[in-house]
Amino acid sequence: MAPAALLQRDVPLHRLNTFGLPARAAWFAAIETPAQLVALIATPEWRYLQRFVLGGGSNLILTGDFDGLVLHARIAGRELIAEDDDAWTVRAGAGECWHDFVCWTLERGWPGLENLALIPGTVGAAPIQNIGAYGLEMAERFQQLEAVDLATGETVTFDRSACRFGYRDSAFKREAAGRYLVAAVTFRLPKRWRPLTGYADVARELETRKIADPTARDIADAVIAVRSRKLPDPARIGNAGSFFKNPVVDAATFARLAARYPEMPRYAQPDGAVKLAAGWLIERCGWKGKNLGPVGVYEKQALVLVNRGGARGEDVLRLARAIRESVRAMFGVELEPEPVVL
Ligand code: NAP
Repeated sequence: MAPAALLQRDVPLHRLNTFGLPARAAWFAAIETPAQLVALIATPEWRYLQRFVLGGGSNLILTGDFDGLVLHARIAGRELIAEDDDAWTVRAGAGECWHDFVCWTLERGWPGLENLALIPGTVGAAPIQNIGAYGLEMAERFQQLEAVDLATGETVTFDRSACRFGYRDSAFKREAAGRYLVAAVTFRLPKRWRPLTGYADVARELETRKIADPTARDIADAVIAVRSRKLPDPARIGNAGSFFKNPVVDAATFARLAARYPEMPRYAQPDGAVKLAAGWLIERCGWKGKNLGPVGVYEKQALVLVNRGGARGEDVLRLARAIRESVRAMFGVELEPEPVVL
């Protein structure tokens, strides 16, 4: 297809973000191969267009129409590219559904991603915020990614250190934000695998199922059951997963808080800091199950904001601001939103 034929005008985005927020893109291109993108970058129009890369739209708040070009990463494919004594190395296109990819690895007997089952979004989006759940971060299984530089059209390979992964964070949310389209991601899945069952919800679920010595598939099934109970299915109730990161406070701040709220959940960090549970702070401020206009705080999990019907981006931001103010007033703790705001 000629590069210009890829470009569509005035495209609605409400079905392409899991919160179901209304917005339109002035220009839109579905990218199915890196070559298509490279050809588009070579066109004279390219440098006049502001760009935004969209994956599964599951960590995104759209606040209005976008007057530039939305690039929808739909690159498909998944394959075993190497196997040695230590690991299976698998590579997947950025447009693959993350959960389907996790299931595909497990069906083949390659463990390692089971704790990350049922996370919404695509493979290409996973490294952007270094998705994590139940004691495992994607970074621990990551080998490298290939990305197209939107300024030059060159394909660049990033290894783990170049991605500068942090807690729900990477270089692609900071210094490299907006510069690349991730085309494919490669993971190393360990042959000397150990189950990660340290999170209470998963341990309880395995106990209920009377599984003492779980396989990777057992853990995935437990994670799927827990997530399905606690988190709204974006296909039915618009949401963007956890809306705030868990705040990490220094030891002195924690001591002050713990004296006042002895029951406050806390998770000690290796550097002496303490991670707090954002959902607990929000719940204690009385927000669980409450609505502000057409946006609400999910009744089963206070960390998730939900679209009660007809919400716009500004409604979501208004509720998020109100929650941040409550938490700041009650605990003196700053909550940082997790989704990308456009
Ligand atoms: P939860 O079990 O209600 O626990 C609340 C928070 O406490 C979690 O966010 C988790 O932090 C922390 N935590 C719990 N047990 C821990 C342990 N043994 N060691 C260290 N930290 C612990 O959490 P939840 O909301 O149902 O979520 C369960 C998992 O799925 C969490 O890992 C969460 O991050 C993940 N999740 C992520 C998203 C997203 O959109 N990013 C959405 C839903 C769930 P961590 O967040 O650091 O793990």
